[in-house]
Amino acid sequence: MNWLSRNWEIALFAGALAAILTHFTWDRFLRRRSLAKAQQDYTQRLLKREKELTAQAQARLEALFDSMTEGVLLLDSAGRVELYNRSLERMCGITGGIRDLTVIEAFRLPELVKLAEEVQSAGEVIGFELELSGENPRRLQANATLVAGAEGSRRGALLVFRDITRLRELERTRQEFVANVSHELRTPLSLIKGYTETLLDGAKDEPAQATRFLQIINRHTDRLSFLIDDLLAISKLESGQITLNCQPADLRDLAGRVIEQFIARAVERNVTLVNEVASGLLAAVDADRLEQVFVNLVDNALKYGRAGGRIIVSGRAEAGGMIELAVQDDGPGIPPEAQARVFERFYRVDKARSREQGGTGLGLAIVKHIVQAHGGKVWVRSEPSRGATFLFSLPQLSAEGAAH
Ligand code: ADP
Repeated sequence: MNWLSRNWEIALFAGALAAILTHFTWDRFLRRRSLAKAQQDYTQRLLKREKELTAQAQARLEALFDSMTEGVLLLDSAGRVELYNRSLERMCGITGGIRDLTVIEAFRLPELVKLAEEVQSAGEVIGFELELSGENPRRLQANATLVAGAEGSRRGALLVFRDITRLRELERTRQEFVANVSHELRTPLSLIKGYTETLLDGAKDEPAQATRFLQIINRHTDRLSFLIDDLLAISKLESGQITLNCQPADLRDLAGRVIEQFIARAVERNVTLVNEVASGLLAAVDADRLEQVFVNLVDNALKYGRAGGRIIVSGRAEAGGMIELAVQDDGPGIPPEAQARVFERFYRVDKARSREQGGTGLGLAIVKHIVQAHGGKVWVRSEPSRGATFLFSLPQLSAEGAAH
């Protein structure tokens, strides 16, 4: 009996021990499992975060790459397109994908193939220029350099393009301007020199001839001085050096003051000058500059208009808070194809007529700049043989002084 109870106790103890052991083992197992799970989750979260960060960095790089104004092209070691950005797409008008294509397949530009070859042999090419023809012709300047891979092996070439179309246009305009100015200065100067020499050679002793030659010299000296004044004005206006001193002004009074200056010349040409600017029209203007606008337009109307004709200066308020002013003549007018160009520097419809009248070819360009500086626009309406009307707009000022 004793023996039985002892065994029973042992069995009970062993069972309890087994149960405890099982419990701890199971518990350890569960804890291990949840730890492993937590570790796995953590690793997954880390991997996900890393992926997100890589994607973000990639997106940032791509955005940066695409927002560059320069076009960028990366060629691989076989000379095939590996990478390019949006600016390059825009510059070259690329519409489909060009990745993995050769340079000639992608761009169809032998000059670009030449550049890719040059960079392979020279290692670097600076300031290579190429012309893109087609609908939207462009001039590009490229710098190219070889890209080294790991252990100095050649990985490909990097080509960076800059659109220099506008720069070249500006250069051409500047050269044309300098050529025009030189020509305009040389013409009166050579006439002055010619007549001075003739006078010195003996014409000075014949009073009638001497007077005539001196009058010609005087006229061309005036022309030179007008030209220099206009050149200074246009250069200041174009470089934005002029600050307008705008004050409220009554436009009828202002037009009246200009008309008065021309009365003697109008009488000479038997031209009637009429002021039809509405009363009470106010605008915030730089009075001296705006007078210059009227002077140039009335002067042209007198120069190119009809002798015995009529010049009307008018102005009225328009919808949208603008004032529309006009100088109208009844002369030969301006041919349609020349109307868009008369505001260009040195453009003349009839060169001989302009020079004979002492024109500089800059009057309307000055008008355009002054009107634009006042926030207005200028344009011309004309039908052949039915005169020309030069119109310009200005923001109106209400009687209380605020611009509409
Ligand atoms: P210019 O000093 O030659 O007058 P502008 O810039 O004032 O220069 O004018 C440019 C050209 O526009 C003139 O040469 C002339 O051919 C033409 N033009 C200007 N105003 C008139 C007008 N009222 N009628 C006909 N042609 C005009």
